[in-house]
Amino acid sequence: MADLMWAPWRKKYVASPSDEGCIFCIKPQEKKDRKNYILRRAKYSFALLNLYPYNNGHIMIAPYRHAATLSALKPCERNELWNMVVVFEEILQNALNPHGFNIGLNVGKAGGAGFDEHLHIHIVPRWSGDTNFMPVLADIKVIPESMESVYQVLTAEMRKRGGSAGKTKRSRKKRA
Ligand SMILES: [Zn+2]
Repeated sequence: MADLMWAPWRKKYVASPSDEGCIFCIKPQEKKDRKNYILRRAKYSFALLNLYPYNNGHIMIAPYRHAATLSALKPCERNELWNMVVVFEEILQNALNPHGFNIGLNVGKAGGAGFDEHLHIHIVPRWSGDTNFMPVLADIKVIPESMESVYQVLTAEMRKRGGSAGKTKRSRKKRA
């Protein structure tokens, strides 16, 4: 199922890291978070929009460290990574109101990872009935406007939660 899940964009996605090096190492180093659609930098990990989204709001969470497996991460890195997943599940829920999610990671080429050298967790919002246009999405080109608007909606939601877009804290969230 995971293989089917990520297959549509894997072909394109795999093409870029081999040309440019590891995007999960390069993008955080560039300090161009807006251009790279980096949503949040935490201590050990960061969140960014996938340039080749499987669906609107497709996010990836990755450690800064070039590690290929969960077991290669230190407990503190692993904990923060999964905390980020939880936080972004909530941010996506509030911002885009999806009906569900696919959340997961592919470890190793045999596990279906398009780029298997640097671990990353996918969070893909899902809406009832969106399976109908998946084949269409498979060949879709990146539309900068839609990436930009998703980025803006998510950073606005992050600001609502308190703090800057880059430093949200769950504990600070207040509901009326
Ligand atoms: Zn890397």
